[in-house]
Formats: sequence, C-alpha cells, structure tokens
Amino acid sequence: MKYDYLIVGAGFFGSVLSERIANDLGSKVLVIDKRPHIGGNCYSKLDEETGIEVHRYGTHIFHTSSRKVWNYITRFTAFNGYHHQVLTTYRNKVYQMPINLETINSFYNANLKPHEAQEFLKKEIEKNHVRAPQNLEEKAIASVGRSLYEAFIKGYTIKQWDKDPRELPTNIITRLPVRYNYRKDYFVDSRWQGIPLEGYAMVFKNMLKSTNIHIELNCDYFEHRNEFNVTKKVIYTGPIDRYFDYVYGKLEWRTAKFQKEIVELEDYQGTSVMNYADFAVKYTRIHEPKHLHPERKFTKQKTIIFYETSGSDSNDPYYPVNTESNYNLFKKYKALAQQEKGVIIGGRLGDYAYYDMDKTILAALKCYERQLVDSTS
Ligand code: UDP
Repeated sequence: MKYDYLIVGAGFFGSVLSERIANDLGSKVLVIDKRPHIGGNCYSKLDEETGIEVHRYGTHIFHTSSRKVWNYITRFTAFNGYHHQVLTTYRNKVYQMPINLETINSFYNANLKPHEAQEFLKKEIEKNHVRAPQNLEEKAIASVGRSLYEAFIKGYTIKQWDKDPRELPTNIITRLPVRYNYRKDYFVDSRWQGIPLEGYAMVFKNMLKSTNIHIELNCDYFEHRNEFNVTKKVIYTGPIDRYFDYVYGKLEWRTAKFQKEIVELEDYQGTSVMNYADFAVKYTRIHEPKHLHPERKFTKQKTIIFYETSGSDSNDPYYPVNTESNYNLFKKYKALAQQEKGVIIGGRLGDYAYYDMDKTILAALKCYERQLVDSTS
C-alpha cells in the first residue's frame, strides 16, 4: 500500500508529526515501531496483578512552561494534580533533592536561614575555588562545595554515566539547581505539570486515532527498509548513527534497566522516586509508581517498586552521553542527515539530545511548521 509519509518510531516526536500530518495536512501516514506498543519510552500500562499504572521505561512526569505545548497536549489528555518531589538517600538518611535549605541544614546538622546558608556555602565553595568550571565536577563544587558534591552528586553521577565527573560536561548538572529555601517541588520552573489521568498509552492512542494513520508494531525499519512505498517523506526518530550504518563509528548511549518487585505493603517508600546517592548501592533510584496517581483508589495491600540501574547498551538507548567527542561525532552524522533527500531525522535519539517530553513535542511542532507545512504549500 502507498503512503504519503512513513514515520519510524511512535514516541512523542513521531506521534506529534503523525497527528499533524494526518489531521492538519490530511495526508496518509504509516507509523512503524519495533516495539509491541506505541508511546516510546513514555509508555505506561496497568499492571494486572495490582491495578497500578506502571511506567515501563522509568517515571515520566509531564511538565512544561510552554503554552504552545500545554495547549497541544491537553487536546489528547487531562492531567492529574501530581507535583513531583525527589528525595535522596545517603548513608541511610533521607534528604531532599535538588539540594535546598532542608538538605543543607540536615546534612550539616544546622539551622541556617537562607542568607546564612548562602554565606556558609560561599566559604565551603572558596575552599576549592574554581574560577571557570570546565566539567561537571568543577561546576558542582563551584555551586555547592566539595562535601555536598561528594555526598549527593559524585556517586550518583558515576553510577548514572559510568564516567569520571571530570569527563562530563557542565550542562548535565545545570538540570539540578541549588535552592536556598525550602521549596521541594522538583520542577519549580514549570507552570504546568502532572500525569495523564488515563495513563500515557491513552495519550498516544488519542493522538494516533485518525483513519489517515496506519500503525504497524513489531516492525523494524532496518529489516524492511526497501519495502515501503512512500511518496513524500520518511521521518526517522531512531538513533542517528544507526540510520547511517555507523559509518563514522558509534555514538555512546546510556540505558536504564528496571527490576520489578511486587511488595505486600500498601506503601513501600512513601514517595514516587527515591534516589540513592552512595556509590556502594548499585541502583540509582527506586521508583514506586503508585504515588504518581494520588487521585486513584487502590484496594489491594500491594505496591510495585522498580530498582533502576544504568548501563551502556546501545541497542536500547535512553540518554545521549554529551561529551565533546560524542558531540563532534554527532555533528558529522548531522551533516549527513542534512544532505539526505526525502528524510527528516529528529527526536531525542535522532537529535542526540537530552530532551524532556515537552521539548520533544515542541521540536516536533516546529519541525512540522517549518519543514512540512511550508514544503507542501
Ligand atoms: N544528579 C545527582 N544526584 C541526584 C540526582 C541527579 O548527582 O540525586 C545529577 C546526575 O549527574 C544526573 C543529573 O544530575 O545525571 C540530572 O539528573 P535528573 O534527575 O535531571 O536526570 P533524569 O531524571 O533525566 O534521569
């Protein structure tokens, strides 16, 4: 069968573009995904035994400050009132993350006011004065001092990236601010946040429900590359290096692995995500998805937890590793992509970018406006 567009990958980038092309351009789209479900890494599903909504690829909290993105996504789902908070365990004691006044006071067993904490940390930072931070370690020490860095950031970062924090770029840690107040919501700058009321799978189902869209699951693009009959464009949202058969070599990716356990308790840890800062503890976090839906009633005295560990399987890519050498390699692939006719490469894997969900949606909407509406008008 003939299609106007082929979309490879049914995560947010591919699904937004499919939806726009089908509903706004009125063109025919074939969406393929090698997994047995739509939704990419955002996918969630009700666990049969417990009735708990499980985020199969790690906890996904939707948050944004973009009105454009919020207006778009709320056409497909309503959100609950969940606000994300993260805690971290270090040497068997629980602290708030990102580092805030509570973390500082608790760690130093003090009772500092905001201005006193600032003065105090300034002195801590000066002990290891770093003028212009060049890497993650220097950046972290320049913002919280060595002791807090070693407790809450160093071990966690090595576990997550399997790299010396001196080899990692500063921008990874700028995702984690330092607060001299007691605010504990994780996404303090996001105007809107929550979890889709009926789960993520339903969001994607709603986005892809047009009769102009045909979905094929368990379909690997590379096994069928020459069989598709596409008249206009291919939109590829997988890893960019894979698309070009690794001609310049492989980009590094980090993956996350989740080990599930059903616990015969109503509540295991009292919160949805608990980080583990100690290097000696093998996992980076424990997720307890029940807490993501405070609006739901759970009748069973059971909960599910997932131990998350980090790995380097490039067949299951989650996070780009933003070192200089990877970035330079990506630029070479990007140049190839720009010469490739009839193909758009994008999304977290195609752009080798550490996008949150809202950034992915925004990138897809912009791609649609700039590269698809214009090219057909
Ligand atoms: N990080 C840390 N300690 C923590 C949480 C995060 O050192 O308890 C660092 C770590 O380097 C991590 C980065 O901050 O890669 C970004 O963390 P975030 O929680 O934003 O990562 P994500 O949720 O995207 O996996």
